[in-house]
Amino acid sequence: MLATKTALQEIIARHWGIHQLRALQEPAMDAVLAGRDSLVVLPTGGGKSLCYQAPAVLRGDTTVVISPLISLMKDQVDSLQSSGVSATQLDSGQSLSARLASLGQLRNGNIRLLFVSPERLIQTDLCDLLQQLDVRTFAIDEAHCISHWGHDFRPEYRQLRILTTMFPRASIHAYTATATQQVRQDIIEQLGLRNPDLLVGNFDRPNLTYRIAARQGNLTKQVMDVVNRHKSEGGIIYCLRRADVDDLSGKLTALGVNAMPYHAGLTAAQRTATQDAFSDEKCDVVVATVAFGMGIDRSNVRYVLHTAMPKSIEHYQQETGRAGRDGLEAECVLLHSGADFFVWKSMIEKSSPDQPADSSYIENSMRQMRDMDHYCRAAQCRHRLLVEHFDQSWEGDNCLSCDICLGETAAVAEAQEVARKILSCVARVKERFGIGYIAAILRGDKSENIRQRGHDQLSTYGLLPWESAHDIREWSYQLISQGVLAIEDVETALGHRIPILRLNSSSWEVMRNERTVRLLQPVKRKAGEPSKRSKADASSWDGVDRDLFEELRQLRQRLAAKRGVPPYIIFNDNTLRELARIRPGSLPKMRMISGVGDVKLRDFGGEFLQLLINHCQREHLPMDRF
Ligand code: ADP
Repeated sequence: MLATKTALQEIIARHWGIHQLRALQEPAMDAVLAGRDSLVVLPTGGGKSLCYQAPAVLRGDTTVVISPLISLMKDQVDSLQSSGVSATQLDSGQSLSARLASLGQLRNGNIRLLFVSPERLIQTDLCDLLQQLDVRTFAIDEAHCISHWGHDFRPEYRQLRILTTMFPRASIHAYTATATQQVRQDIIEQLGLRNPDLLVGNFDRPNLTYRIAARQGNLTKQVMDVVNRHKSEGGIIYCLRRADVDDLSGKLTALGVNAMPYHAGLTAAQRTATQDAFSDEKCDVVVATVAFGMGIDRSNVRYVLHTAMPKSIEHYQQETGRAGRDGLEAECVLLHSGADFFVWKSMIEKSSPDQPADSSYIENSMRQMRDMDHYCRAAQCRHRLLVEHFDQSWEGDNCLSCDICLGETAAVAEAQEVARKILSCVARVKERFGIGYIAAILRGDKSENIRQRGHDQLSTYGLLPWESAHDIREWSYQLISQGVLAIEDVETALGHRIPILRLNSSSWEVMRNERTVRLLQPVKRKAGEPSKRSKADASSWDGVDRDLFEELRQLRQRLAAKRGVPPYIIFNDNTLRELARIRPGSLPKMRMISGVGDVKLRDFGGEFLQLLINHCQREHLPMDRF
């Protein structure tokens, strides 16, 4: 066993230039090597691919990898080949000669990793061949696609049920970043995994900084604030509707941002052009609907900006997960408004016209949206709430990586008093009205509506005259997320469902001052004042020569263009920053940098070394700063 471990470490260092495994990678590889089924749940960027790729090289036979998209397969194959691992793919878009070449290599036993789509895998000819070759290991990437509870359900994944019957001697390994218990259970059942090793990692992504703010009238300005913090870096901006994508992408382009649109209403060729330009780092920003998703393999996305609330916390985690896959700092900004909830509601109702009776689908979606809405407005650490949502516990007090913990929001001095006024007002109107109306009473609005109902006579009328309706609304949502106020959909006499505020036993505790609450509001920054640097941001640039990093990035881009592969396949940003930090002065020293394996050293080492030497001579800088 020890010999196997040493041999595996040696393979990982030689091909991937990786010298230390991450959490759960070792037990995940053990399961593959021992032929036990497994389900591995690690967040995006957690290093799932290595868990089946390295054992495949050690075993020396063929591992079949099932992947949902041709573009993902292609990137994986390019990446493995550039690390000196023989890999190929079989897909419907291939030319006959490419297919025959792949099949020939496969028959000769020269392929360590074969990538196929689920529909291709179950075709009889390929299944027969794989049976003849006695394939013993199957890796199922993006395994949540098998579950209709997940966010990317693909019916063709259901066909993978046959694997355990067709290949009874093979072990099956499922990989996903999806965190919900329900989806995990579904994966195990649908695939028929036999007593699988269940390896679930920590969902926190400490390199991501979360910021959530209310969307304001001038959205373009709010978006540009974020884009300007990340000049010439990769970013994804999500919008709810196609029309919003076209509009915002046009405005950003007019402002000189290198942005392209992506949504299902564009032609396949337009979508591919956007995806390729982004992947090749020829385009910095993609403005997209959520249709822009799984095919994105660019690892140095430095920010994900939502211009509206996502549909659920699971979607939020998945979409923000596309930032910082290289483990370096990245920012996730969410701009939301109370209206988002209702836009989603109508989209969900419209999306199930064929199944009007399917109230459980609508109910489930509404509950998820409400959770997301509460998450947006909560006054607690964003990292903590996110991991707690996925039933994991959070250690530590201050993450130093979210707007709350970075002190970008301030506690409202009179929070307890404000809360008591809001709750009393809900009590006075007998729990029959929504947030907007409560805010109007508290502000002492002189509306006809209020006067007719006699609510201008209430003791709570005009109790918060100086606060904006927006702030009162935000605070009410914060009280809801702290569990001291409730919101419920109630049917009106005219048959409409409207959300109204209700009290619970905790509300009365607050009103009696037996329980305290915290309310927050954004700290106003002076014009031009930069936002604070997160912990990850400060540490990952520590000691990095930024000019040198930029030179290395340009060299990487030239080499990638010459080879026709995306730049991150040459080296990821983490490796470039290490090179710019340590400035190795010889090839053996460069080989010690994480991400530099033997084949990459042979293929690219010389050119990178020359650049480093030239830079250090020109700037009179020392090298080998290990
Ligand atoms: P996932 O599939 O879980 O989203 P990947 O397998 O794409 O993640 O890995 C993300 C990045 O992390 C890749 O660039 C990979 O080479 C790198 N990586 C994986 N394992 C390690 C490790 N142990 N140490 C350093 N980098 C790693």
